Amino acid sequence: MARAEAIIDLGALDYNIKRLLSNTKAEGLAVVKADAYGHGLVPVAERALKAGAKWLGTALLEEAIALRDAGISAPIIAWLTPITDDFESAIRKKIDLAIPSLKHLEAVVKAGKSLGIPPRVHLEVDTGMSRGGALQDWNSLVTKAAELSNDGVLEVVGIWSHFARADEPDHSFNEEQLINFQTRVLEAKKVGVNPKLLHLSNSAATLTNSSSHFDLVRLGIAMYGLSPEVSAMGSSETLNLKPVMKLRARLHLVKEVPAGSQVGYGGTATTKTDTKLAVVAMGYADGVPRNANSTAGVLVSNKKAPIIGRVSMDQFVVEIGNDSIANAGDWAYLIGSEGGDGYTADAWAKACGTINYEIVTRIGPRVPRVFIN
Ligand SMILES: *Cc1c(COP(=O)(O)O)cnc(C)c1O
Repeated sequence: MARAEAIIDLGALDYNIKRLLSNTKAEGLAVVKADAYGHGLVPVAERALKAGAKWLGTALLEEAIALRDAGISAPIIAWLTPITDDFESAIRKKIDLAIPSLKHLEAVVKAGKSLGIPPRVHLEVDTGMSRGGALQDWNSLVTKAAELSNDGVLEVVGIWSHFARADEPDHSFNEEQLINFQTRVLEAKKVGVNPKLLHLSNSAATLTNSSSHFDLVRLGIAMYGLSPEVSAMGSSETLNLKPVMKLRARLHLVKEVPAGSQVGYGGTATTKTDTKLAVVAMGYADGVPRNANSTAGVLVSNKKAPIIGRVSMDQFVVEIGNDSIANAGDWAYLIGSEGGDGYTADAWAKACGTINYEIVTRIGPRVPRVFIN
């Protein structure tokens, strides 16, 4: 029997996608980068398409190729593809590519010419995040793209950009980026680039800002049932989303220790009373952050047991207390529970000074994913 596992509820994924798409006239793109946010690339992609998503999105070309190799034929965009990538494979496998610069455009068109297939691209414009996308070179990029399209060596499928602060729905920067986007699209149209798809929204914008939906919304964290930002937007529950991942590991050992015992590397915590501790068989090599504090822990025998001391590579210690009936070999739930009120990815994020995205995406390959529903 497994030492640890992530239980992936595909029924919850289905529910979240339908709930998100019921909110918009746009088509849905399921973002499955980073092993589907740690949930398992291919099973999540297949179920997302069944639930109504029409597109898939990945960061890396390798991720998009893995989807094609699994037999998935839906349209896919890969948007983080350095110019050294294997664009011939991408084009041969009908993977759409994001184009953030003239250099990218040249490399992709060159690969397309050598195959005799016009590459399908989505021109990426920087509307204020100063990360991906063309900024000062936008006009030369769209002019060149128009020329190449006229020559029949390029197919411009979309124009897109990304929000920096969509998880602060009331922030005026969202409106600024939206206006910028519309202006940049007009500039493209002026030189003859008039693609059928415009896309700008991530989960947060899909939930809060319908004027930014355009033709396609890119669904990430919310599809996995997690809130883009708990304090500004509310929890999964408030947003009517169902967390898709539960995470559990076996108790390796249960034992009694006297008051005043220091626990773990560096002796950073000490027992206050005579008590019972349990060793959970999961550690930072599995993606449990080393700096998690005692506001996180596990649910065991339907009771919350906080972390005590530092998380180690393969294990960590929790205080289960003298009255606990937990035994070695029992499941301890790090995220979710079987019915009871367990810890959430949000609780772990708070305990580690990070966001729920980082908690779920870091669950490592040593933890098998088990798919249910
Ligand atoms: C990751 C990503 C998304 C999804 O963002 P969420 O906040 O998880 O919804 C959308 N678009 C792009 C370009 C991304 O990189």
